[in-house]
Amino acid sequence: MSEKITALRGATTVEENTRDEIVSKTRELIEKLVADNGIGTGVRAVWCLISTTADITAFYPARALRESGLLSCPLMSCLEPNMDNALPLCIRVMIELAVDEKTEFVPRHAYLHKAALLRPDLAEALGEDARSEQVQTSRSAEAKNAIVNVAIDGPSGAGKSTVAKLLARRLSMTYLDTGAMYRAIGLKMHRKGICLDDVEGIERTLDGTAIEVETIDGIQHVFLDGKDVSGEIRRHYVSKLASDFSAVRQVRLKLVEMQRNIASEKDCILDGRDIGTFVLPDAAVKFYLTASVKVRAKRRFDELKAKGEECELGTIERDIETRDYNDMHREFAPLKKADDAVEVVTDDMSVDQVVAFMIDIINSKR
Ligand code: C5P
Repeated sequence: MSEKITALRGATTVEENTRDEIVSKTRELIEKLVADNGIGTGVRAVWCLISTTADITAFYPARALRESGLLSCPLMSCLEPNMDNALPLCIRVMIELAVDEKTEFVPRHAYLHKAALLRPDLAEALGEDARSEQVQTSRSAEAKNAIVNVAIDGPSGAGKSTVAKLLARRLSMTYLDTGAMYRAIGLKMHRKGICLDDVEGIERTLDGTAIEVETIDGIQHVFLDGKDVSGEIRRHYVSKLASDFSAVRQVRLKLVEMQRNIASEKDCILDGRDIGTFVLPDAAVKFYLTASVKVRAKRRFDELKAKGEECELGTIERDIETRDYNDMHREFAPLKKADDAVEVVTDDMSVDQVVAFMIDIINSKR
């Protein structure tokens, strides 16, 4: 029987770089190559080369190969040269195959985990971790050192926080929901029984108020004077309080200072009403997300219902109109589209469409 020779390629990445992870990820790769290409059943492995980046703990990949059953072919291993922008913690495999000449054979390569970035054309599906890495590695070296902030403004219910969270995850940036900070202040004033016209009371209360925003396991938590109020601030009654107190100059100055400090330290995506116009007028990318009142009210209604809060669509619609009016007509830092913001009308767009559109724009600007 005469045979033809062909080569099979594959790669994978590890995160923890422990013996167990290296062995199991390498086995996963080998077993996939073996199964997808029918190695051992009409297809013969002639030799196998395994290479690793220098940061991989040595020898375990070769051991995994042996444990995967590729015993009868010579096994070679080597280190990858240290190249700029190489994918770290990467294990590559090349297998030479001998196939019966008469057999129609198309090699099926495998690029798993973040290695999917090396050959997106061959990777079956780019996982979440690979996608976020892809965006990161596409940044220029220069941009990596500079702080990049993305401002997302717009009225309530336009979908800002939903897309901001997804963008932050995909782009490995920090998400800061500035509305949550105004909600926390509104809640504090309410608990202290402070009225809107009590300027002295507001100032005194602000002085004795600590707000902290922390991301724990990918979820943003807001602490008011050390207590987690993340759930309470989402209640409907707090929305009106936040809107009312956000018009008070002293409140805005305190929160804007906090927001600027956070954004000066790391790449952030901030959503709010005045991010592009007032908080970060120099933000690298600005968006103005909006949708009709009806669509926004329905979204808020569904959200509250899902949380088990009693609500009525007509009331939410009216509340949204009132908040829009308040936000757009307050004297200090009102809601408006920044001249250089990209407007996105989300009525007829799915969340995925909005996110994809925004990622394209962000990547084109940094
Ligand atoms: O976005 P969210 O609905 O949680 O915001 C609550 C309220 O906080 C808004 O209605 C708005 O009045 C106020 N806000 C603001 N400036 C921001 C964010 C929110 O005035 N940057």
